[in-house]
Amino acid sequence: MNPTTRRTFLKQAATATLAGLSLSSKAAERKDLKVASASARPWYRRTLRWGQTNITEIDPTRYDIGWWRKHWKRTQTQGIVVNAGGIVAYYPSRVPLHRQAQRLGGRDLFGELCHAAHEDGVVVFARMDSNRAHEEFYLAHPDWFAMDAAGKPHKTGEMFISCVNSPYYDDHIPAILREIVERYHPEGFTDNSWSGLGRDTICYCGNCRKKFQERSGEDIPHGKNWNDPAYREWIRWNYDRRLEIWDLNNRTTKAAGGPDCIWAGMNSGSIAGQCERFRDYKEICGRADLIMLDHQVRNDSSGFQHNGEAGKLIHGLLGWDRLIPESMAMYQAGKPTFRVASKPAPEARMWMLDGIAGGLQPWWHHVGAYHEDRRMYHTAEPVYRWHKDHEEFLVNRQPIASVGVVWSQQNTDFFGRDDADALVELPWRGVTQALIRARIPYLPVHADHIDRDAGQFSLLVLPNLGAMSDVQVASVRRFVERGGGLLATGESSLLDEWGDPRSDFALADLFRAHVADPRRAGDEARRKKNANDTVHTYLRLSPEQRTRVDGPQTGTEPPVTGERHEVLRGFEETDILPFGGVLGPLRVDAGSQVLATFVPAFPIYPPETAWMREPKTDVPGLILNTIAGGGRIAFLPADLDRRFGRDNLPDHGNLLSNLIRWAAKDAISLAVEGAGLIDCHLYHQPGRLILHLVNLTSAGTWRQPVHELIPVGPLHVRIKLPADVRGKSLRLLVSGRKAAASVTHGWSRVEIKSVLDHELVVLT
Ligand SMILES: [Zn+2]
Repeated sequence: MNPTTRRTFLKQAATATLAGLSLSSKAAERKDLKVASASARPWYRRTLRWGQTNITEIDPTRYDIGWWRKHWKRTQTQGIVVNAGGIVAYYPSRVPLHRQAQRLGGRDLFGELCHAAHEDGVVVFARMDSNRAHEEFYLAHPDWFAMDAAGKPHKTGEMFISCVNSPYYDDHIPAILREIVERYHPEGFTDNSWSGLGRDTICYCGNCRKKFQERSGEDIPHGKNWNDPAYREWIRWNYDRRLEIWDLNNRTTKAAGGPDCIWAGMNSGSIAGQCERFRDYKEICGRADLIMLDHQVRNDSSGFQHNGEAGKLIHGLLGWDRLIPESMAMYQAGKPTFRVASKPAPEARMWMLDGIAGGLQPWWHHVGAYHEDRRMYHTAEPVYRWHKDHEEFLVNRQPIASVGVVWSQQNTDFFGRDDADALVELPWRGVTQALIRARIPYLPVHADHIDRDAGQFSLLVLPNLGAMSDVQVASVRRFVERGGGLLATGESSLLDEWGDPRSDFALADLFRAHVADPRRAGDEARRKKNANDTVHTYLRLSPEQRTRVDGPQTGTEPPVTGERHEVLRGFEETDILPFGGVLGPLRVDAGSQVLATFVPAFPIYPPETAWMREPKTDVPGLILNTIAGGGRIAFLPADLDRRFGRDNLPDHGNLLSNLIRWAAKDAISLAVEGAGLIDCHLYHQPGRLILHLVNLTSAGTWRQPVHELIPVGPLHVRIKLPADVRGKSLRLLVSGRKAAASVTHGWSRVEIKSVLDHELVVLT
């Protein structure tokens, strides 16, 4: 059967199965409409399990297609990614200078695999890798390649980097795409490195000079200068060019292969990574049919939970009705990398499970078609089989969350600049880690989507969201005026969307705190130093609200005056918290509650000198307010989010979660009690709730790889019931154990005895 016939057959078979019901003729007519729409659902909306054998140049001599076909079956894989062309071709290409893979030897490996997959009812993403070429190509078209200011080509190793503004992208790559479509009919295309040279390298080739001049009337900037309008324009221009390439490639593949023959590139799970490669996530998701996510491993600082979060963040842009397959390394990837050694199965498994909990689709990934470490072939299968059995609960669902954590790529670019990790990512990580630790469901929300998406939230968090546009600021204000809570930290709203300092916080009227010295707002060196340094500073908790004093007395404490504020719950036995950051003065409006003040640094060594030189200042670290008729606002100038992200001190995480609960007026739809680090993801489908509990408790939680899984439990879970869920019937889809649910006052209560790696609770 040729591929086209095969696809027609598959479509017909799907229709026949769905239509194989006994129906009266009128009902059948109505059903026919539904069947038509179900079978019309394109392949990229229904391919839930993926696999990839990334072909090395030696593989044409040893690729055992029969073995891999069995592996597709064993793992219930529905779609595969197959190397086709770009740097090298895995088929006999006629496109000039499209070099054959070293050991191809005339074999049509791509064609054979594509045919085999279609025979097995498996869809094919033809994989391109299109940003570099060998020397003979460079010598034929030196003007198609990226150049430094001196006119020397940019290289990586022996290869030359093609310029995104050259005919390499406009003509050469489209010619390859057309050839592959016409000859093999893959369902679509993906591309590993489609976006060319990254942000850290400027191309001065003739094409770039000419096109940038046409766009801006300026020369290509001489170097990096975030304050230079020409450099900012160069950044924006680069983003726009990648979007043009995205559109061009999609036009090309759809024109050649039909409207469902999509080109999907690949994207990262890291916003800083997207920035460095000029990939505008919001714009890409606005035009993408699915996202192929190249985000293979965890790192120690962000953990497995980063994978679930990546799923939620991208779905927030793409929509929850679309799919996000994620490449998951079955080999030891990350630090260190061993391409042909198995990743310890518990490590690979946890990354997969947390991603699935966040709405990602699994995509096993091996480098090379033959392995002497065969253990890696056993990792995916049990996860994939479980996924197949329960797939109806894993897609087409809406997340339920009480908290929206606000982000924007422009903030990473223009506030983060060259220090996005300390300025943007660490505060983000601290806040989200505090939320996960407190088992409070949250969703990332793009700052441009607050009006659209924040309706379900009790609270928005701005984790040091320094760069905000006036429009974004207005959205936050509307949210609070409607009664929503706000936790803002650090320098949130202090700069505009280009990273230019404002004279005061744009949200100063909500914070009820103002910049005392506008010069500090524009002091980039100070900002970076404070974000990167840890100094011996403290926060003094509001003494007026201390309820008791245990321990030795100095005789100078102020009198006890009343109840302590609820955000300081758990800190009854301390008047100070370790801090580590630096705070400057702020003007605080009358009537605001300042619950923590800054204690400046004093010596650590020698111990004889370790006493506070200035035990009390009026520099505020935490300010609370309630807007009349509106929400509760916590403004935390102290960068406890960044500190928690970096230092992991429980005091910082606890204060953050106390602030979140207070500002959300405790309107949080999930509570999970029991020891352990558990990543909770809650979803709604019509008539039922779906809760993932991913057990991240392990000796390797903050140090990869995980060697073994350690069970937790019992867990006591309470979930607020939406109107269409009765909440009395319960299924546990991992352990298969029986459990009972009891319902009181619109909440369902469940006890789960034990969770090894994950549990999926379905409540109806
Ligand atoms: Zn160029």
